[in-house]
Amino acid sequence: MTDFFEKISSASERLKDVVNKTPVMQSSTLNKRLNANIYFKCENFQKMGAFKFRGAYNAISQLTDEQKQKGIIAYSSGNHAQAVALVCQMLDISATIVMPNNAPKIKQQATEGYGAKVVVFDPIQTTREQVAEKENKDNQLTLIKPFDNENVISGQGTVAFELIDEINDLDMMLAPCGGGGLLSGTAIATKGKLPDCKVIGIEPEMADDATKSFYTGKLHSNPNPLTIADGTRTTSMGDITFPLVREYVDEMKTVSEEAIMEAVRFFYYRMKIVVEPSGALGLAALLSGVVEAKGNVGVIVSGGNIDGEVMGDILNGR
Ligand SMILES: *Cc1c(COP(=O)(O)O)cnc(C)c1O
Repeated sequence: MTDFFEKISSASERLKDVVNKTPVMQSSTLNKRLNANIYFKCENFQKMGAFKFRGAYNAISQLTDEQKQKGIIAYSSGNHAQAVALVCQMLDISATIVMPNNAPKIKQQATEGYGAKVVVFDPIQTTREQVAEKENKDNQLTLIKPFDNENVISGQGTVAFELIDEINDLDMMLAPCGGGGLLSGTAIATKGKLPDCKVIGIEPEMADDATKSFYTGKLHSNPNPLTIADGTRTTSMGDITFPLVREYVDEMKTVSEEAIMEAVRFFYYRMKIVVEPSGALGLAALLSGVVEAKGNVGVIVSGGNIDGEVMGDILNGR
């Protein structure tokens, strides 16, 4: 813990002048309705539109000159891809990104826009690991995993670190969970600064592998879950994130697809902010009553990258 907390603390220094210090926002309508104080840490306003920039920058900037010169490979359904592509563009490193063909179009286009080579595959036919292996036959490229990497986790932990620097009397902290990089970083940062603050991870019901793993102690997986929260479509937690989530997170909860869409609508109509479904999991848990808000509650709003068409469907209740 101290080790990892120290890493988050130094990641926070490293990232200070590179990341957007994202706003903390509130809704008085919501606070009245829930009889609590909800603080949203809005990483939809982060560079490239999600917290993933933090982990990618923290990991890639610490590679050796030789690794940087040979280039990076990454696989992702979206935001990690964009993050790696942007960081590589900033640091003048070549990037190859492997993406499933069901990734949101804007995420694919943005990744190409940052100058990365994008390799698209069909997740029904093959796995991203197999495709990545083929692209990196002679093993010259450095693989930056989306969550199972200590420097990525430490970078993601800086979101909660920054939030608590601003609001230092939180009773609860909610974060979404896909592969568990954000959640484990959030939990370590939170427990390091506020040992009594309760940390709760939120997953879509349709992709509840981490919740099952958390409560059974056995790593569950769910290949290709088709939840609307595409940032959490990961098959399972990783070798590093699973034990961290088990150790530092207090509870895991799941939310329905309808609750997720209701939360996206609330952010849009009530708070005037664009949040992608994965970023709305915390609010979905609060609005649907899956988590009962008590006191001061920090909610990590993880990203805002959503296709216009999908947003239209959600807003129109389709
Ligand atoms: C990646 C991502 C998540 C899940 O993060 P993990 O570290 O994989 O658990 C949640 N929300 C958004 C917007 C993401 O991009």
